[in-house]
Amino acid sequence: MSLLNAAGFGLVDLTAPVESGRRTPDELKALALDAAQALEGRPAEEIAKWATDTFGSRFCVTSSMADAVVAHIFSRVSPGVDVVFLDTGLHFPETLKVRDTVVRTMNVNVRSVRPRMTVGQQDGEYGPRLFARSPDECCFLRKVEPLERALAEYDSWATGLRRDESPTRANTPVVAFDAKKGKVKVNPIAAWTQADVDRYVSRWNVPVNELFKKGYGSIGCWPCTRRTKAGEDPRAGRWAMFEKTECGLHV
Ligand code: SF4
Repeated sequence: MSLLNAAGFGLVDLTAPVESGRRTPDELKALALDAAQALEGRPAEEIAKWATDTFGSRFCVTSSMADAVVAHIFSRVSPGVDVVFLDTGLHFPETLKVRDTVVRTMNVNVRSVRPRMTVGQQDGEYGPRLFARSPDECCFLRKVEPLERALAEYDSWATGLRRDESPTRANTPVVAFDAKKGKVKVNPIAAWTQADVDRYVSRWNVPVNELFKKGYGSIGCWPCTRRTKAGEDPRAGRWAMFEKTECGLHV
């Protein structure tokens, strides 16, 4: 696949085959920088197709199962794609219902990835309710480490991050190189608004977490998520008792 370089330097082959073995971090970084320019402003489906054409089996989608929009886009573009779900053991039943609906109804391969310890084992080792005392540590054990373990077999992964979700996400690029992970992060709906999401959900009848109708603006683990009030940032209900706005997955 070739696209016009946004800088005007002609055509760049963004999906050039790897000559030998896996791409190096430097190659992945160069690929991400080119794609970030070339794909900005392009439809989510085109960004998704670039990702699956470029990385093949070394690519996965991640989903929090707040909704299944990104998983659905990839199911249309690349049926059978891997979808990684971090099953923290502390999800709302409504979230697990979306996950199970995706498994039943979409042509994707859902991989539920669990922490090394059950909630009970973690309580035994760190004391009960770690989330109420040290949420960063809890998020590391139940989200960050499992994601890093899951991503070990991929060069690239997709998220559902959007610029309009919060000020901390306002500059989210459609494609980026994550230097810490040494992998390419693809955000196909970065430029979408909530209205775009609602239109897509309605058009394709995509599963959405029922908690949105019950006053939640953003959905994570049940101990760290509360309803939001009118006018609040949608993510204001996450870790509301702490100076914490992200779980560490998107640093
Ligand atoms: Fe723990 Fe809360 Fe993070 Fe879930 S969101 S992993 S319960 S601190």
